[in-house]
Amino acid sequence: MSAVLLSLFYLAVVLLPLALSAFSGLPPRPFRDEFASGAGMLAFAIILVEFVLSGRFRSVSAKIGMDVTMRFHQLLARTALVLAMFHPFLYGSEFNLPYPFDPTRQLTLTRDIASLSSGVLAFVLLPAFVILSIGRDSLPYKYETWRLMHGLGAVAISGALLHHTVSAGRYGQLPALETLWTVLAGLAGVSLIYVYLLKPMMLARAPWRVSRVQKAGERTWEIDLEPDGHPGLRYKAGQFAWLNIANSAFSLRENPFSISSAPGAGKTLSFLIKELGDFTSTIGQVAPETRAYVDGPHGSLVVTGRKEPGIAFIAGGVGLAPLLGILRQMRLERDGRPTLLIYGNRKAEQIVHPQELEALATELGTEIVLVLSEPPEGWSGRTGMIDAALVESIFREPEMRDWLFVMCGPGEMMETVEDALIAKGVPTRQILSERFRYD
Ligand SMILES: Cc1cc2nc3c(=O)[nH]c(=O)nc-3n(C[C@H](O)[C@H](O)[C@H](O)COP(=O)(O)OP(=O)(O)OC[C@H]3O[C@@H](n4cnc5c(N)ncnc54)[C@H](O)[C@@H]3O)c2cc1C
Repeated sequence: MSAVLLSLFYLAVVLLPLALSAFSGLPPRPFRDEFASGAGMLAFAIILVEFVLSGRFRSVSAKIGMDVTMRFHQLLARTALVLAMFHPFLYGSEFNLPYPFDPTRQLTLTRDIASLSSGVLAFVLLPAFVILSIGRDSLPYKYETWRLMHGLGAVAISGALLHHTVSAGRYGQLPALETLWTVLAGLAGVSLIYVYLLKPMMLARAPWRVSRVQKAGERTWEIDLEPDGHPGLRYKAGQFAWLNIANSAFSLRENPFSISSAPGAGKTLSFLIKELGDFTSTIGQVAPETRAYVDGPHGSLVVTGRKEPGIAFIAGGVGLAPLLGILRQMRLERDGRPTLLIYGNRKAEQIVHPQELEALATELGTEIVLVLSEPPEGWSGRTGMIDAALVESIFREPEMRDWLFVMCGPGEMMETVEDALIAKGVPTRQILSERFRYD
């Protein structure tokens, strides 16, 4: 329900400039001109709200999930791009000085060079910006460099659009609309200040220190953090946090990781981290006592309050991390519901904490199905990939109907399994998933 309210609120905000323009009392222009202005205003409103969507506000992401929030962010950016690109070509009236008999500019469009040139600047920057975001992986920059360029680019485009909208737009010059655009741009600015200044200031006052770094599997580490002079983090099993190790709290060098510890186990926070790129491949060398900052908790991969009679966990590789946090918490709470974990890897050496998985099987009663795509000789577990056939061979009709399915792993695995479960009649509200990539 709150997701629906959030969507309605979003629509109300981005449509507000159109509504104020429609009820401004100005005499209507030809439909083409009104449509063109509407497209431009809608694009700008969407762009300004993008600052809030990407600002990691828990009031947004806790309701719909961080990956859904980021997907919306990407989808809406593309929508704004299309609207903005078409907007100048939709006008039918001529660019001219206002006629003396037409003070409300029904018949002409402004030809003021300053206000048009800020629009042209945004028109050129916006597609470049979106294309560079879509093709981020192919750019020769670190993620943090890209993120900085992304933020600066968004500010430049929004600044140009604000100038263009209030100076060239027929409606933008009305006091009510000018105030609204200033307020929306101000909110976008406040989001930036919150993300890059206020939040780091808060994080700096609640530092953590690394207490242990332990090898958990091939190229996978578990790192433990202790709160340094504060009560720690209140989180739910399965959530994640942005982790910043050995940098200033204001650094852009922070990465999202699922929390693999159980909140009921104490103040220690644990993260299972797989070596992948420049930061994660150094994780095994982090020394105890290193200072860290934790921005969280985020995410909605939580089973707290769920009443399903059983829970199936489906993990691929390091996707085990949030599921392990949930299983650890269930063990602490002596949750009596049946649980089943399907855990896939390429090789046996990649299986994380094999002894603890055995302990979960005996103490929590979790049925553990290990799957290897490159099994060693004599392997007695399942082989191949976690796919539709495997899922169908494990779950029976009552589980498919009643259980909760919680999954995390490579995108391809999640899509295949999700499709298979839905095809077998599992209601989508009984499927929870977390993606480790936002694109
Ligand atoms: C919600 C979530 C939970 C995650 N949980 C885990 C986990 O428990 N264990 C684990 O090993 N991995 C997890 N990841 C993936 C992890 O964040 C990346 O592997 C890590 O950030 C890579 O950083 P790098 O510097 O080593 O590699 P890079 O080469 O710098 O980055 C590789 C890719 O990781 C992603 N990435 C890097 N930095 C960020 C960032 N600041 N914000 C968002 N994405 C970023 C980008 O897609 C990038 O292309 C999770 C990701 C997300 C989104």
